[in-house]
Amino acid sequence: MVDLATQHRTMRTKMNAAISKVARSGDYINGEAVKDFSSNLAAYTGAKYVIPCANGTDALQIALMALGLQPGDEVIVPNFAYVAAAEAVALLRLTPVPVDVDPETFNIDVQKITNSLSLKTKAIIPVHLFGQCSDMAPILKIAKENALYVIEDNAQSIGSVYTFPSGERLQAGTIGDIGTLSFFPTKNLGCYGDGGALLTNNEELAQKMQMVASHGQTTKYQHELIGCNSRLDTLQAAILDVKLPFLDEYIQARQQTAQAYNKALEARSDLYEIPKCIAASTHVYHQYTLKVKLDKRDALQQYLKKRKTPTVIYYPTPLHRQPAFRGVIRIGSDLGETEKLCKAALSLPIHPELTEEQIRYITDLLVNYE
Ligand SMILES: *Cc1c(COP(=O)(O)O)cnc(C)c1O
Repeated sequence: MVDLATQHRTMRTKMNAAISKVARSGDYINGEAVKDFSSNLAAYTGAKYVIPCANGTDALQIALMALGLQPGDEVIVPNFAYVAAAEAVALLRLTPVPVDVDPETFNIDVQKITNSLSLKTKAIIPVHLFGQCSDMAPILKIAKENALYVIEDNAQSIGSVYTFPSGERLQAGTIGDIGTLSFFPTKNLGCYGDGGALLTNNEELAQKMQMVASHGQTTKYQHELIGCNSRLDTLQAAILDVKLPFLDEYIQARQQTAQAYNKALEARSDLYEIPKCIAASTHVYHQYTLKVKLDKRDALQQYLKKRKTPTVIYYPTPLHRQPAFRGVIRIGSDLGETEKLCKAALSLPIHPELTEEQIRYITDLLVNYE
């Protein structure tokens, strides 16, 4: 699904120099590269404040802790997504309220958010799934009308741009109160281990999140609140700083691959539904996710596997069917679309190193599938 070793070879000299520089400095925690990368990431995203942390799941937890939510408060999360957002909510004894997604875009269904609100609802976590922004204009409107915080889980869509009806354009992760990022190796901007960050334009929240991520400290050994320990290693920050200037190229390569897939697969609309883009958002194709019709998804996956073509099912089980969340969530509206998607969605290999020959091999298999 990815080819990280090949990617490393394309920038081996620069990368080895950056890694070696950190190794020689001995400054392995909160070193120079952490500050450099944070300010470069702020410049790239347009966020006023960047708070680096250990991974994308921690970022969600730190965001929720900084908002000061109380046990029993409810947080809206998409029912079709990676588990991290709902998990962070539940870990803090808040109640996840899973909401169905739009079957066309895989992102949270705005209409169904309204139907799922209660007097206890305090926040919404839209997950920008597979590389495309959730529909943020109506989500912000609902949030404003109901005094809700908005945390964007932007682990999959760094670099994606959302355009408001007014024409204002903002990067994913800088639209709500807080945006969270993951630098897990397979993400569009990945490090060589674990990493994450929080984005915000709110100074007070930025200070609070910085404090939470560092044992609730104001100054050394002064603990203002109960926090956690979540840091981005200097080494990972240095690696990310080498890769950040290439992010737009990586995104363009992914978009080209997606166009090639779209073009080839349109001929088989009897069998495949190609991913739909909303006009308001650019798509950075963290995943290229098809819907396979006629219950043929699993057979197709086996067929491809036998022909050395990996695919992944993101995600096989809706949140509300996960054993860990039994008795933990509140269900406020119908979740039927998620059930259908879990049976139809199939993600194809997509990454900047994919060659034209590989793309042709994959599309030939798909187009000729009986
Ligand atoms: C990867 C991912 C996360 C978690 O990031 P980690 O760095 O692995 O903790 C959270 N949310 C989404 C949508 C993700 O894809």
